[in-house]
Amino acid sequence: MTDGAVRAWFASDGAIARRLTGYESRDEQVELAVAIERALHDREHLCAEAGTGVGKSFAYLLPAVLQATEHVGDGPVVVSTRTIALQEQLERKDLPFLHSVMPQEWSSVTVVGRNHYLCLRRMHLARREADVLFDIGDRIAQLERIVAWSSETHDGLRMELAEPVDHEVWDEVKAEHGNCLHRACKHYDACAYQRSRRRLESAQILVVNHALYMADVALRMAGAKYLPDHRVVVFDEAHHLERVATESLGLRLTLGTVLWHLRRLHPRRARRSLLAEHGTRRAIQLVDDLREIAAGFFALLEERIAAVGGRAVDLGDAPIDDPLSHFLGELVEELGSCASRIVDVDARMELQARSRGLAALAHVVGSLCRPGDGSLVRWIEPDRKSPVLRSAPVEVSAALREWVFTPERSCVLLSATLGPGNDPEFAWTRSQLGIDDARTLRLGSPFDYSRNVEVEFAEAMPDPQREADAFLRECKRRVREAVLENGGRALVLCTSWKFVHALADALRPTLELEDIPLLVQGEAPLRNLLEAKRERPTSVLIGTESLWEGIDVRGDALTLLVLTRFPFAQPDHPLTRARHRAIEARGGNPFVEQSLPEAVLKFRQGFGRLIRSHEDRGRVLVLDPRTRTRRYGRAFLDALPPGACGDDVVV
Ligand code: SF4
Repeated sequence: MTDGAVRAWFASDGAIARRLTGYESRDEQVELAVAIERALHDREHLCAEAGTGVGKSFAYLLPAVLQATEHVGDGPVVVSTRTIALQEQLERKDLPFLHSVMPQEWSSVTVVGRNHYLCLRRMHLARREADVLFDIGDRIAQLERIVAWSSETHDGLRMELAEPVDHEVWDEVKAEHGNCLHRACKHYDACAYQRSRRRLESAQILVVNHALYMADVALRMAGAKYLPDHRVVVFDEAHHLERVATESLGLRLTLGTVLWHLRRLHPRRARRSLLAEHGTRRAIQLVDDLREIAAGFFALLEERIAAVGGRAVDLGDAPIDDPLSHFLGELVEELGSCASRIVDVDARMELQARSRGLAALAHVVGSLCRPGDGSLVRWIEPDRKSPVLRSAPVEVSAALREWVFTPERSCVLLSATLGPGNDPEFAWTRSQLGIDDARTLRLGSPFDYSRNVEVEFAEAMPDPQREADAFLRECKRRVREAVLENGGRALVLCTSWKFVHALADALRPTLELEDIPLLVQGEAPLRNLLEAKRERPTSVLIGTESLWEGIDVRGDALTLLVLTRFPFAQPDHPLTRARHRAIEARGGNPFVEQSLPEAVLKFRQGFGRLIRSHEDRGRVLVLDPRTRTRRYGRAFLDALPPGACGDDVVV
């Protein structure tokens, strides 16, 4: 396929324009598609930044389809998006459209994790043992709804259920690793999960999400895999990759997880249960003991957090007492002998699968309690319900270099904000991800920021570090003024939960008087907050963390964006500290090499929340004074899109 052929698809009289009402050929889109096609053809990696409105989806899907159909021997082309919702958008909208205009023969599959699929065998078992599994009548009714749905559904995916069901019910009917009879199962031919596996093996395009992709990487590192081998992968919204990889390649343990495993064997004070039916008194006693031991273990973790003022606790090289693994091991052994006495195949598999789950849990507990080889950081993370015991790689670059960004593979990374603004080669992003060589492309945004955005850097603000209380006081006053003047319609981005709550408490009475709804992250699921924001355009949404990166509120529901502080990562967080130590150990400067580029990138992402379409207009108010007071402040200014800071902006 030549550049000219790719350009022809996107031309104003091309195949896409002829079929897509309102389609406008955009130079940036064509340039991006051509660059992707060339990178795939030459088996190179490509890092490309293309702003909102460029039309990224078609620009990568079309070369992906051409690649998959012209080089069948290379295996499928994997397209990875950030969320399942974005996967669905590709599946329902963009891919069917390309099917309708492209003459090539190809098929695509949207891949989700096994646990999203219904297992017919387990569903029938759950129905048979419903009075053992569910002590609440409503859950039996939910199970019956699943049974009725199972005869209609083609894909067997939980998200397709018209009415949601409780996790406890889905847990009993979902497809599970280590709990499948494969071809020996009498439901094999009708099984949606197995059908999806067969399609997965034959499809030319696989649409996955980053979490699933990185889970596959973790599996490959352990000698297994979920996705077929492939030589081409396109990552959309690639700025999330490093974070997702950090989470997927680390471990996480909560009290809730331990109790979930135990509850599935024998709910507290239950008279009927899987164990009561097929286990022994000793097994039930072990489950009860483990509940107590786990509660005590997490209470101790909570105490350690409290001792340092509610912050995350770095576990360093010190082991922590592990009272769980031994008893988990005993329970696994006891369940093994219980299972060997069960005649019914389904019931035996069920107990064996739960026993394997406990063995895996014991492994996680052991790994988190023991110090590793120094490549992992371990820490106790405070959380609203109960502490989380976590580990993560200090750097993910080595693993990704070996397992993802290999010379044999061509990887395309796309984002509206792929790196800190003043780094045309994306050197910082590439070093974080372990990409040694790559072509790069930075496309301008199709939006006219000089006309659509007014940026104001607030004057005479206290320093957020040295005068934290005064800064907060002034933020409360300035945010209140700005929001009232704008009639709401605002998004306020903060850098800590404490700041979010303090600001929300200060704004609430005034906004109530003005009948402006206040939406605070954490007070409802993010999806609900965003729906409420769009339904009530005058509302004010306040939040931190994920709100900087991945939300899309268009039109007059968002005409004021307040960026309170520059989003530097918490310097005392164990993971941040470990990463800084690693940079120092090789003679680098952690602030220059990590803290600043990370914060500038996040600042760019936050800034990008305001203008999501050609019609969007608005004002950005930056309350952090450090663009004026610190030498590095210039990096934040330089990162803004061209034209965003008009000449009248005083800094
Ligand atoms: S083949 Fe496996 S996943 Fe499918 S119904 Fe049977 S046991 Fe369940």
